[in-house]
Amino acid sequence: MSREPSRPPAGLCDSCRHQRLVPNTRGSVFSLCERSRTEPEFRRYPPLPVLRCPGYEPDPQRPDL
Ligand code: SF4
Repeated sequence: MSREPSRPPAGLCDSCRHQRLVPNTRGSVFSLCERSRTEPEFRRYPPLPVLRCPGYEPDPQRPDL
């Protein structure tokens, strides 16, 4: 029986262009902030849900999330 990967709502990150979803081998998916690569003030895996973020930029590919 297959299961869809599960993850908690990530708040703002779910509609942000800097989010990357990272699956693990146990069926969970984590919300990674790509800004953390170059900007240390952003955590690689921020506590969820993110409700306010100075780095938020809407992702035009996901306008309805
Ligand atoms: S910039 Fe902020 S809102 Fe965007 S993915 Fe990173 S933590 Fe989430």
